[in-house]
Order: sequence, then C-alpha cells, then structure tokens
Amino acid sequence: MKLRPQIRSGVMSGPRVIVYFVCPSCHVPYRATEQQRPEQLSGSFECVDCRTPVHKWTGFYDLFNWQAVRLQPVASRPKI
Ligand SMILES: [Zn+2]
Repeated sequence: MKLRPQIRSGVMSGPRVIVYFVCPSCHVPYRATEQQRPEQLSGSFECVDCRTPVHKWTGFYDLFNWQAVRLQPVASRPKI
C-alpha cells in the first residue's frame, strides 16, 4: 500500500470528498477519494475481484485511492 503525501497544499485542487461505488457484478463496495482538478481528466476503475468496470469518469475531477470497503463485524452499520 502506497501513501503519497501531497506536497502542494490548497492552491491547485479543491477539497477531497469520499465517494462510494458498488461493483455491479459481485457487489463489493468500494470507496474512492474525489478531488476537483484544474484540468479535465478521465479514468476508470475495475473491480479487483472480478475485473468488471465499476466506474468511469470524465471531468474536472479525479478519483483515486480506491479501496474495497471491508464490512466490519459491528452491530450498527454506518449510513452511506
Ligand atoms: Zn466485482
């Protein structure tokens, strides 16, 4: 797992937002970090388990830091 700290702060990019997606094939939930960018970007993400495309995007934002959301064995589930 790589952690890349951002050296530039605050000037080029907007705030980060956590967004959630679910694989349409095997229903594994994923979360990603969305951040606005000054230039248009496009990308896609496919399920690491079944290789089904989960999400494609084009726009002035980027989605990164994709992680499968492993459900915790706790009594109360967080609201999404
Ligand atoms: Zn899948």
